[in-house]
Amino acid sequence: MEVLAAEGMLGEEALSEFTVSELPRGWPWAVFCGLEEVLRLMEGRRIDLWGIPEGTVFRSRAADGVRVPVLTIDGSYSEYCVYETPILGMICHSTGVATMASRCKKLAGDRRVIAFGIRRMHPSMCPALDRASFIGGCDGVSSLLGAETIGAEPTGTMPHALIVMMEDQRRAFRAFDEVIDSKVPRVALIDTYSDEKAEAIMACESVENLYAVRLDTPGSRKGSFPDLIREVRWEMDIRGYDKVKIFVSGGLSERSIPPLLKAGADGFGVGTSISNAPTVDFAMDIVEKAGKPVAKRGKYGGRKYVFRCPDCLDYGVTHNRNQVPSCSKCATEMKLIEKKLLSKGRRTEERPTPKQLRSRVLSQLEKIELEAI
Ligand SMILES: [Zn+2]
Repeated sequence: MEVLAAEGMLGEEALSEFTVSELPRGWPWAVFCGLEEVLRLMEGRRIDLWGIPEGTVFRSRAADGVRVPVLTIDGSYSEYCVYETPILGMICHSTGVATMASRCKKLAGDRRVIAFGIRRMHPSMCPALDRASFIGGCDGVSSLLGAETIGAEPTGTMPHALIVMMEDQRRAFRAFDEVIDSKVPRVALIDTYSDEKAEAIMACESVENLYAVRLDTPGSRKGSFPDLIREVRWEMDIRGYDKVKIFVSGGLSERSIPPLLKAGADGFGVGTSISNAPTVDFAMDIVEKAGKPVAKRGKYGGRKYVFRCPDCLDYGVTHNRNQVPSCSKCATEMKLIEKKLLSKGRRTEERPTPKQLRSRVLSQLEKIELEAI
């Protein structure tokens, strides 16, 4: 900014785009997240901003290899250059988290996935972390601020510490049931001192409206976690507690969800693998200066238009808005997916709620597959 000012260039126009060359871990798609914060940051500045809507499933590149711009910003370069880093920080982390949440939710299907990862990140990041986890597809979040951000009640269970402090599982189960607001589902941790099936039966017998038991068994005691779930399910069913659900947590990842689901788990508390999801390395590049295409090495110059196949969710990128690409898989005419989000710094539409964004994500998840993991 100082150099541009000294050279008398503060008003010079530049158009920049945000793209990612490659998604982490070879992901074939990702869920764009973090846009709402970008809009709040850039609102009121003399710029135009186009982008794919928040909660859009996108690919890093179109079928022909051209990078897909998720955001395009136009105005005086000095009007937005100092925001390059915060914008990237808002979308890179949230997009990684939302994508991992989507992958876990896709695997868990209609079973619940709860974001348990706030303890793995600095508390200042809780709201953004929980928001991205929820938009990606998690059914609930565990922080108060995160829950407030998404407009829902926070979700959690008793800690092992409660049982250790009370030195007796039955006493802890009963005390929790007596003290905690009745609208909070009763979930009993059943791996503190004894065998899981013994504690599951204790919990069923101690709490009348037991909603679920939770297994958080440490790795050193786990053996086969799916077999443990089958055994607990059997022992509860045979005693008539077939409505009591089984909730699992403890180092879960997208790899561990399918076998646990098959074994009968009804819900998954996923922490580190979502909160510490790989970040998506978006970059901002100037691609037009004063209306003329420019670009550094390795990037393509000029304003680009982003299209998507409504069925396959494959992308097409053209430098002419009227040149509409067809999908290489199904031959359907693609649709322009980018929207004008800010016009001279003013929002062009109402902001969607996190619940609406999550629904948007879930409806797209039905159309895509996970690669083999
Ligand atoms: Zn298609």
